Amino acid sequence: MEYISTRGGGKPLDFEQVTLAGLAGDGGLYVPRQWPRFSHEDISQMAGLPYPELAARVMQPFVGDTLTEAELRALCDEAYGRFAHKAVTPLVQLDERQWLLELFHGPTLAFKDVALQLLGLMFETFLARQDKHLTVVGATSGDTGSAAIDALAGRDKVDIFMLHPAGRISDVQRRQMTTVRAPNVHNIAIEGSFDDAQAMVKRMFSDSTVTDRFAISAVNSINWARLMAQIVYYFYAASQLGAPQRKVAFSVPTGNFGDVFAGYVAGQMGLPIERLIVATNVNDILHRALSAGDYSAGTVTPTSAPSMDIQVSSNFERLLFDLEGRDGDKTMARMIAFESSRNMQIDDDMRLKASEKFTSLRVDPDEMSIAMRWAHEEAGQVIDPHTAIGLSAAKSIDMDPSVPIVTLATAHPAKFRDAVERATGVRPMLPRRIGDLFDREEALDKLPGDYDAVKAYVMGKATPAHG
Ligand SMILES: *Cc1c(COP(=O)(O)O)cnc(C)c1O
Repeated sequence: MEYISTRGGGKPLDFEQVTLAGLAGDGGLYVPRQWPRFSHEDISQMAGLPYPELAARVMQPFVGDTLTEAELRALCDEAYGRFAHKAVTPLVQLDERQWLLELFHGPTLAFKDVALQLLGLMFETFLARQDKHLTVVGATSGDTGSAAIDALAGRDKVDIFMLHPAGRISDVQRRQMTTVRAPNVHNIAIEGSFDDAQAMVKRMFSDSTVTDRFAISAVNSINWARLMAQIVYYFYAASQLGAPQRKVAFSVPTGNFGDVFAGYVAGQMGLPIERLIVATNVNDILHRALSAGDYSAGTVTPTSAPSMDIQVSSNFERLLFDLEGRDGDKTMARMIAFESSRNMQIDDDMRLKASEKFTSLRVDPDEMSIAMRWAHEEAGQVIDPHTAIGLSAAKSIDMDPSVPIVTLATAHPAKFRDAVERATGVRPMLPRRIGDLFDREEALDKLPGDYDAVKAYVMGKATPAHG
């Protein structure tokens, strides 16, 4: 499988190369040259497979010959063996129509572990083949950072620098990053929003004074391998609910458009998905874009679902590329214009095409609390604020009532226990595996929201690519 940039530049790369590169050199995002397809027969045969085996089967076409089937299977066994539930991502029924897919049984209690545990192992495998040192630089609105740090701490030939917006993530989220004491882990609290941090990371990727010496890579969802790993659980859930004979809809609490884009890819690969619900909170750029063509970035409003407090959704570019008929020049022009004006109009024909698959809904804080209370009182499930946004959207959408709707439960409720307690009166307990989090010592450095300061910090501590 070859990968190309959404902005049309550079040479095509293989899976190993795109995994280590993260962002493309022309500022675009890597996508496979074409979407692989599974037949109905192939999908029928997925029913009942253990998660790691299904994962290897779904990902093999993307990995191509960069990993043998046995190597890929071994990585999946190791990554998913660290999950606290035997089913890895268990499906829970709420009522006759609504389901939850619990994606939070990994080491850091959010769905990002599903992809990052695997990515950490892939990094190690690929770096061992090359005489190369990798510098991972990322920005986190909370959950990516802890999942990435857990996946990379102590691994050979890789350093991780993680930026988070100071004071804007939960105590549990911060401590899950800052209490990991490994010499290759560097936590940076910056003054500003997640988008400010993300913009600095993006700038570093295209700064040749950095990239000439250091092999910089990304672990946020601009990294293709992460999206790839997330495709798997759409197949897992749908095949349990009767795919390919029966259609299924998914409601996805969305921030950077990564998770829901993985669902789109599952659909392109032949999984019969009736609808993908893009559920946003009041930071609703995606809802405005998909419902009215208005992709313009405002300012971020902090909410109790901080992993969705995002104004610019990096992965949306991957969808735009498809909607533009995979024309890299057009996508490049569009994104360059957006980067200077922070404003983009989505043409009606593109919006219409998107609406064949996606419906967007914006969920306000009251609706979110109502969904949390409904899940608790009517279905006996304590859910986190992000999941509640997905569930609220799933319950309000106007759709064929015979189609089951699976809401992706993206975080463990204990990760956001203050917000959960406010809405439901229940204070969820941290699972025993991370129970001593508040007794561990923290390590982090505070920096101003200034690119040059962050750059100097990273260059001062990172190991050059060679040597
Ligand atoms: C990251 C995250 C999201 C948003 O996922 P995207 O892939 O950025 O759309 C939603 N919920 C939780 C708990 C998250 O950590």
